[in-house]
Amino acid sequence: MELEEFVKTLPKRIAMKAYRCESLFDVMMLFEAEGIDYPEDLIAGTFFVNPIRCPYCESVNVVEIVNSDGSEGYRCLDCGQLFTI
Ligand SMILES: [Zn+2]
Repeated sequence: MELEEFVKTLPKRIAMKAYRCESLFDVMMLFEAEGIDYPEDLIAGTFFVNPIRCPYCESVNVVEIVNSDGSEGYRCLDCGQLFTI
C-alpha cells in the first residue's frame, strides 16, 4: 500500500506529522510512537517525491499559478492560501 493512501485514512493530527517526515523510516517510527497499525507492505511511493506542501496547512493539494506580474507561485486547494517557495 502506498504511504500517501494510508496517510489519508489517518486522523488529521497524525497525518500532519507524517507529512513533516522526511523518510519512510521516520514515518514508521511516528506510527510506532502513536500506536498506529500500519500495513506491512507499506511503500513510500510518491509520498516524498512532491516537496511542495502548503506552509499553512501542510496539504500537498497545491497547484502552480502564475501571478499577473509573471511571477510564479502556488495556491493551496485545501485552505486557499497563496504562497511562494
Ligand atoms: Zn493550505
